[in-house]
Amino acid sequence: MKLHNKKAIVTGGTRGIGKAIVKELVDNGCNVVFTYHSSDETAKKIEKEFSTENVKVYGIKADATSFTQAEEVVKFTLEKFGSIDILVNNAGITKDNLLLRMSETDFDAVINANLKSVFNYTKAILKPFLSQKFGKIVNISSVVGIIGNPGQANYVASKAGVIGLTKSNAKELASRNINVNCVAPGFIETDMTEKLNEQQRQAILSNVPIKRLGKPEDVAKAVLFLSSNDSDYITGQVIIVDGGLVM
Ligand code: NAP
Repeated sequence: MKLHNKKAIVTGGTRGIGKAIVKELVDNGCNVVFTYHSSDETAKKIEKEFSTENVKVYGIKADATSFTQAEEVVKFTLEKFGSIDILVNNAGITKDNLLLRMSETDFDAVINANLKSVFNYTKAILKPFLSQKFGKIVNISSVVGIIGNPGQANYVASKAGVIGLTKSNAKELASRNINVNCVAPGFIETDMTEKLNEQQRQAILSNVPIKRLGKPEDVAKAVLFLSSNDSDYITGQVIIVDGGLVM
């Protein structure tokens, strides 16, 4: 168990990649508080299903775009667990459209949910991390934040921003024994990619050397590595989990 007795916050833990991350951390002995936006019933189910005698899991409804709510989640986690070792910034949304048709509201919504959320949680957790002189922060970006994607100007800008924020925070916090890294998934089978039609799916697969879409668990394993002591000498990096799409 790589994370025996550790404590983590995972944003957006009710579905897809976030849910797989919660499971991977729990399976490795880590207590987890996960957040979500609206899936109350799913959150309750996950709490019940994933909690064991030794490992506790709590779901808390909190809008990742709000700094105040991020502070409340950190407070809640400290009350439950006494300390926090790991922060996984996973919550994210898409509101795709061609630039010409993209509304200012949809641009702002995606930037707030995907990029400002990372600022919110990183800032909210900083005091406990600085005072204990330890912390692991793992941010979920995307390969499109590296290579771009038509129809996703807001999403791509947010995910490129997450990579920049990761590097800047890594440099700023390394001397305090806080590692900040990023995972950039390719196309992973979740609700987010369910909207792809068969033609889009085949077009993606033709560019993926490992001829399948990724599974949420593929991403969760990279997050586990970056959350554990196995990655103590790694900071400011982007691990791409995409079946070889970008190389
Ligand atoms: P998903 O299945 O749509 O799940 C999104 C999760 O984020 C849900 O738990 C949702 O909560 C939560 N969430 C959304 N907005 C939130 C907000 N404002 N505050 C708090 N929680 C919020 O997404 P996914 O595909 O697993 O993606 C997870 C992350 O990986 C995202 O950052 C995404 O950009 C990134 N990613 C995904 C892919 C892919 O192919 N799927 C590829 C690259 C990167 P509710 O259930 O309550 O709505």
